[in-house]
Amino acid sequence: AKGEGRGCVRTFNRSMMLLIEQRESLRRSLRLALERRELLLEYQPLLRSSGQIVGFEALLRWDHPEIGRITPNVFIPIAESDGLMEEIGRWVLEEACRQAMTWPDSLNVAVNLSPAQFLGGSITDVVAQVIDSTGINAGRIELEITESVLLEETVDNLDTLNTLNVLGIRISLDDFGTRYSSLSYLKNFPFDSLKIDKYFIQDIEKEHKSQTIARAIIAMAHGLDMMVTAEGVETAMQARWLINEGCDILQGYHLGRPMSAEKARIFASKARAP
Ligand code: C2E
Ligand code: CA
Ligand code: CA
Ligand code: CA
Repeated sequence: AKGEGRGCVRTFNRSMMLLIEQRESLRRSLRLALERRELLLEYQPLLRSSGQIVGFEALLRWDHPEIGRITPNVFIPIAESDGLMEEIGRWVLEEACRQAMTWPDSLNVAVNLSPAQFLGGSITDVVAQVIDSTGINAGRIELEITESVLLEETVDNLDTLNTLNVLGIRISLDDFGTRYSSLSYLKNFPFDSLKIDKYFIQDIEKEHKSQTIARAIIAMAHGLDMMVTAEGVETAMQARWLINEGCDILQGYHLGRPMSAEKARIFASKARAP
């Protein structure tokens, strides 16, 4: 038993080492990923409760030549801590808007912003440049920010959001309710919509607490003139429950998985226009 214990410790250390080495090597190759065109976007449809398509959320992926496809939850934190996220984020915004220009022009594109992009201070310039270079109508762009971006309710943050608003960009508060939830954000910042995190959606058809929370979020958002999107809708029962409660927009595997730009283009062209 003693021997086994030591073996465990050794294995644990080895896998820790492997993890650290992997992270180091990812860090090095991520620096080159952009210029090697290994980053790409997938698009997940956003549907109104009537079934009409509203647009797509752009989701970042990394096709690593050796490892294969890596999810954003793994490499975005590395990009953030390595100071790469401003540049990657700018590429994401431009690429997503370029793609949106190939869809019917009633369709919107939602893009996630990382804290680095927001705090870098140049996001309003970047957005203005992308509108200029792609020719997209600003009203088709929706920027998704999480509460962590706003942790400090500074005048600067408010200025930035107001400037984006004046440009005609819509702003949604992503992952609502999961982290540093503070209702003062809702009072002080000009959000157009609120996204209920999939954590509250996953057991919504049977769990009383999740139902109560989702209902309250929907009522509060509507009272504040915001739209509500539910993310992570995986079953017909969840969709039915949410539609019945007045949720405006649904997103999730039940309605459509994230898909390639090409598939999104076909999906968009077949979809009923709003
Ligand atoms: P998010 O913004 O909350 O995006 C929704 C995530 O839920 C996506 O994961 C999506 O693929 C997944 N999802 C969609 N429908 C379902 C469903 O029915 N069930 C389940 N279980 N999951 C579903 P993904 O693509 O792995 O992205 C993870 C996170 O990475 C995103 O969470 C977002 O925070 C971040 N992210 C993705 N792309 C970007 C980007 O371009 N920039 C920044 N800053 N962050 C990004
Ligand atoms: Ca999002
Ligand atoms: Ca989200
Ligand atoms: Ca989420």
